[in-house]
This record gives sequence, C-alpha cells and structure tokens, in this order.
Amino acid sequence: MKIVIYPGTFDPIHRGHIDIAERASRLFDELIFLVAENQQKQAFFTAEERKEMIEESTKHIKNIRVSSTSDLIVNVAREEKAIALIRGLRHVSDFEFEFQMAMMNNHLNPEVTTILMMPDEKYIHLNSTVVKNVSKLKGDISKYVPDVVQRYLNVKNNQ
Ligand code: ADP
Repeated sequence: MKIVIYPGTFDPIHRGHIDIAERASRLFDELIFLVAENQQKQAFFTAEERKEMIEESTKHIKNIRVSSTSDLIVNVAREEKAIALIRGLRHVSDFEFEFQMAMMNNHLNPEVTTILMMPDEKYIHLNSTVVKNVSKLKGDISKYVPDVVQRYLNVKNNQ
C-alpha cells in the first residue's frame, strides 16, 4: 500500500486543492487529507467544518481519507506509514517556502519524501484567502469551490 499525506490548512478547500488530490490519488493507493490545526493561525472555519467540506467535495475520489492533527505532520506520516507528503506548487514564489519545509521535514523524518505537484493552470491564482474575501463581498466563486463550500461560506458570512 503506497499511502501519501496531503497536509494543509484547507480553510476552506477549493478546486486547486481538489485538482492536486485527483492527480495524486491516481498515482498512489491512498491519499490522506490532513487538516492542520495550527494554533498560531486563526482559521475561519473549525477543523471539523474543514474536514466536513473536504469529505463532501472529494466523494468522487474513492481512495481518499480525511483526518486532522495538531501534531507535527511528519509524526502523523510515521504513524500512518505514509511514504510521501504531497504539496501544491502554484508560482515560483511558493517554491522557497515549500523547499524550506521539505528540507525541515526531511530532517525530522528522512523516511518521508516531499512531492510538489502543479495544478491545472486555471487554478494557479487561486487561494483560500481570495475565496473567503470574494464570497464575503457576495462575488461569484462558483467556478472555484464546490457547492458545499459555497453553502458553508454563506452560513459563516451571515453569522
Ligand atoms: P497551507 O498549507 O500553506 O496553509 P493551504 O491549506 O491553502 O496552504 O494549501 C495546502 C496545500 O495546497 C499547499 O501545498 C498549497 O501550496 C496547495 N495549494 C493551495 N492552493 C493551491 C492551488 N490553487 N493549486 C494547487 N495547489 C494549491
């Protein structure tokens, strides 16, 4: 079984994330979406809400599991016997941060390899912050997020 972990904040999940998950799930036996509960980063959605949105948005991909953690990602990788961490790369500007993270993770757990994957070009300008900002101002984000995410955003924005 070749298991890989796709870690991130996913606050919320969008079509760029789903594009990467679809690609990775075709290459490996199981992909675990790992929602990071980062104490320093105040998320818009709770970890539970983020997990629910991922579960609903990735129902069409059979070999996906969704989990969350406040532990180090490489520790979860060890527990899950994952061979790699999947990260998405949009612009060259993402590269420096991802490279540093990959080096640190390799130091913490040399058994896990970081794989950087590019999405379809229509998603390279997409990120969760843009999705939240546009939706708050009632802009159309239907091309960029699944229906379930639009529903969750509408509820949050009206609270
Ligand atoms: P972070 O983990 O930095 O908080 P996110 O939760 O937004 O960021 O993203 C999780 C992973 O998905 C990261 O590897 C990020 O580079 C990648 N990603 C984010 N947006 C896109 C996109 N539009 N296309 C492809 N990959 C993306």
